[in-house]
Amino acid sequence: MKRYSAFAVAKEAFSYHQGWERAWRSPEPKGRYDVVIIGAGGHGLATAYYLAKNHGLTNVAVLEKGWLGGGNTGRNTTIIRSNYLQPPSAAIYDLAHTLYENLSQKLNFNIMFSPRGVLMLAQTEHELRAWKRTAHANRLAGIKSELVDAERVKSLCPIINIDGPRYPVLGGLWQPRGGTARHDAVAWGYARAASDLGVDVIQQCEVTGIDVEGGKVTGAQTSRGAIGCDKLAIVVAGHSGELARMAGFRLPVESVPLQALVSEPIKPCMDIVVMANTVHGYMSQSDKGEMVIGGGSDGYNAFTQRGSFQHVEETVRALCETFPILSRLKMLRQWGGIVDMTGDRSPIIGKTPVEGIFINCGWGTGGFKSIPGSGWAMAATVARGAPDEIAGPFSLDRFAEGRMIDESVAAAVAH
Ligand SMILES: Cc1cc2nc3c(=O)[nH]c(=O)nc-3n(C[C@H](O)[C@H](O)[C@H](O)COP(=O)(O)OP(=O)(O)OC[C@H]3O[C@@H](n4cnc5c(N)ncnc54)[C@H](O)[C@@H]3O)c2cc1C
Repeated sequence: MKRYSAFAVAKEAFSYHQGWERAWRSPEPKGRYDVVIIGAGGHGLATAYYLAKNHGLTNVAVLEKGWLGGGNTGRNTTIIRSNYLQPPSAAIYDLAHTLYENLSQKLNFNIMFSPRGVLMLAQTEHELRAWKRTAHANRLAGIKSELVDAERVKSLCPIINIDGPRYPVLGGLWQPRGGTARHDAVAWGYARAASDLGVDVIQQCEVTGIDVEGGKVTGAQTSRGAIGCDKLAIVVAGHSGELARMAGFRLPVESVPLQALVSEPIKPCMDIVVMANTVHGYMSQSDKGEMVIGGGSDGYNAFTQRGSFQHVEETVRALCETFPILSRLKMLRQWGGIVDMTGDRSPIIGKTPVEGIFINCGWGTGGFKSIPGSGWAMAATVARGAPDEIAGPFSLDRFAEGRMIDESVAAAVAH
């Protein structure tokens, strides 16, 4: 694979940029692989990359029913932070955050990581107490986050109205290292690097059945024929329940639509990410100048990738109170994804009741930020056949054993 560099761009300019090779190969599926990963979202692609990079496993296929990154990975609002409450979450989200910080260099692909800082507003006394507890927990976990008062909030984000009539801003939890990255670039960067290491990324290849013999996986039926494998990783976010059903087991996840919208582009007015969990809305400004806005998830199960109109109205109404300048903006686009929610709002990573099948799901509204850490831990789990220390607490059997990892406060709003 040719390296991307300033020198390469200058050199290609002399041949009118006709000499660039394709970023990843488009191979025909082979009859058999050591590992088949279902789902070419960020988590599936990162798993494939770290299987090859960290564990030397390259006879690996990633099967994607649509186009890579076309699921939630290419639809999210790209917020990255690691200030979660429980120690297992802090460990995996901070591993991810740390890997994000030099991922562009590692993958030789500019993922446009922008550590501009993430501010989570406290708009009720209860929320203020919750953030105080989180700030203490973060300090114990070695994660830099701080509780700030309303004046500091105003100085970090001057367009905020801190004296709103219903929900005045009382303070916030500030993670200066938090930020955003370009979502497509994360998928593309992992796909390119994994393909270069020998992984087959196969798009337009839908898995329609999973073959199990004597309690052990033997392969998958796909829209492009049967593919045998020794190990199978299901990494399909909102479709996890469906794939688990094909393999003969059930998951404690619900699939719900989650949506986002963007405004028309305006001049730079906000250089941090702000989340307003009480009113269910959050916002950042894109490099193009659009205000990128996300809201809460729909209150019912569905597989539509658009979300309901009433949520758009609720989110915009709530944000207008905190950001009055929004009231004069036109909204340009709205879209949705299908997120997979667990009862404790933490992911599931690890083995399943079927030998050789591994699952990575349940990231719900907040799994973009975790892609590198999740891929790292999932690859170790698949390669060893047992979870590593990062993945261990997130096993499926925690629901039967009552070992919940309650992140319903940290993950209360879509992000
Ligand atoms: C509107 C919105 C905003 C969000 N904002 C944020 C945010 O700001 N920060 C954050 O951290 N997270 C955010 N998230 C959550 C985040 O996007 C997801 O948790 C994350 O992208 C999940 O990645 P994934 O790789 O597991 O799934 P996906 O990216 O959904 O990939 C799964 C892939 O599996 C494929 N697939 C499904 N079924 C099959 C099949 N039968 N055969 C083959 N392939 C199949 C799908 O086509 C899809 O491409 C947001 C989500 C949404 C929808």
